[in-house]
Amino acid sequence: MTLEAKAPLPKLSKPKDTEMPEARHYKLLINGEWVDGSTGEEVAVHSPVTGEIIGYYPKASKEDIDRAVKAAREAEEKYRLMPPFERAALMHRIAEAIDRNREKLARLKSLENGKPYEAEALPCVDETAENFRIAAEDVKRLESAIIPSRDGNKRIFTFYRPYGVWTTITPWNFPTLIPSETLAPGLAAGNVIIFKPSEYAPLSGLAMAEAMMEADLPPGIIQCIPGEGPTVGDWLVSHEGVDAIAFTGSDRTGRIIASRAGLKHLLLEMGGNGPTIILDDADLEKAAELTAFGCFYEAGQVCCATERILVHKNIHEEFVELMLEQARQVVLGDPMDENVTMGPLCNEMTARKMERHIADAVEKGAKLLYGGKRAEGYPTDLYYEPTVIDLVPEDALISHEESFGPLAAISVGEDDDDLIRLANIDRYGLQMGLFTSSIRRAFYFADRLRTGNLVINDNTDYWEPHVPFGGAGGTVSGHGRIGGKYTMLDMVYLNTVVLDFMNVRD
Ligand code: NAD
Repeated sequence: MTLEAKAPLPKLSKPKDTEMPEARHYKLLINGEWVDGSTGEEVAVHSPVTGEIIGYYPKASKEDIDRAVKAAREAEEKYRLMPPFERAALMHRIAEAIDRNREKLARLKSLENGKPYEAEALPCVDETAENFRIAAEDVKRLESAIIPSRDGNKRIFTFYRPYGVWTTITPWNFPTLIPSETLAPGLAAGNVIIFKPSEYAPLSGLAMAEAMMEADLPPGIIQCIPGEGPTVGDWLVSHEGVDAIAFTGSDRTGRIIASRAGLKHLLLEMGGNGPTIILDDADLEKAAELTAFGCFYEAGQVCCATERILVHKNIHEEFVELMLEQARQVVLGDPMDENVTMGPLCNEMTARKMERHIADAVEKGAKLLYGGKRAEGYPTDLYYEPTVIDLVPEDALISHEESFGPLAAISVGEDDDDLIRLANIDRYGLQMGLFTSSIRRAFYFADRLRTGNLVINDNTDYWEPHVPFGGAGGTVSGHGRIGGKYTMLDMVYLNTVVLDFMNVRD
């Protein structure tokens, strides 16, 4: 094989017409009611799949945020005292409502986001509902300690209390699933939440809130106001009536939020640049298949996508050939077509980043083997070819920044310790992968890789919703944990009650 030889262009599926639903005018959810924004203006939402307008949402003002915060504070007084088993029942009703709206939510996701409907959008809605079921179970077992006291007349109790009024600010890549990761445990634990969906997936967020309201929720415990980060997002983050912030998004925004939040409690889940390491004793065919999944699933727009591939030099050429075979099998096209395995990128910003990263790597000596540009002949120019690039040098942007696109970026390591060194240049430390047949080597790597999560012998997107997920200490991927009871524990505080049972009238 000649590494320099550019492979044939990807085989692209023929774009077909996606049937468009009528573009609806959505409303904001404030204090249990669907209302227009006080600006009287609307924002049109364009689909990356077709380029057409798929709906409108009201443009919110600071006044709308003030109203929502006031309603949240009032709702919180009562809701926090609702018995946990009643809150658990509410979570089950929300899960059922999401199930009922499954197809509608998935279709909107596909159109707003570009996710293949069958393979990615539907499972994503199912996981959203699952998060509410998990939270319902977790809150029933949110047990706290009774602490032995030095004074024999005292009893010391601890209680988990909800933090209060939260804002949940989310990205566009999993527009109902990621919100549910904090809405479900947060609401189950007695918090009230103002949810701000991404400006790139506002309709999915509003449609999810509509489904949640079918569960007959008390007014004000969940409110939904989409809008741009520097306005709506910032008004929420800096509002004195908001107690805590759950943010998922880029580290750039995370830093801004941390600087604007003052002393508010923060749960920050940010980006990743995690490598997958392929050792010379791995099952290479399986490793290539699963690594390609990590690169091309959701067109690579996942925080735990396989951003880099670090290959042991002994198997480098063979592995590159296998990755090319995998890339050739990707079918790019209309996400509503069940034969399509990859849809368009969600937005122009992501496409430009791919272009910048690929140009930079090639300039620094990497070899572009496959793809590497926007695909032609599609309804929008957000359809990006699955891309394989080899011999990516250490100083390339790809080695240090999240690319967030359909990219298999391969680098070579001399031996195990060199591979560990290359892996640990990742400043995010969110998720890494490793393929090996040796238990000894698996643990050698597990003990040395600086990552919050490591997947051995499967793709880096592998996860289960009740498992803790988040970055390693000392990295820029945030703090706190996403996943079932671990998130719930981040959304409550421990309250200590000391009782003296002798200082009472008998
Ligand atoms: P982003 O940071 O641009 O935006 C995320 C959210 O923050 C949006 O709702 C946006 O409107 C809001 N925002 C922007 N500026 C703000 C400000 N000044 N104040 C308040 N809010 C503001 O991220 P994105 O492009 O939407 O999403 C992609 C990023 O999300 C990637 O870096 C990806 O890795 C990360 N992500 C992380 C996880 C995780 O669990 N760690 C999961 C999914 C995505």
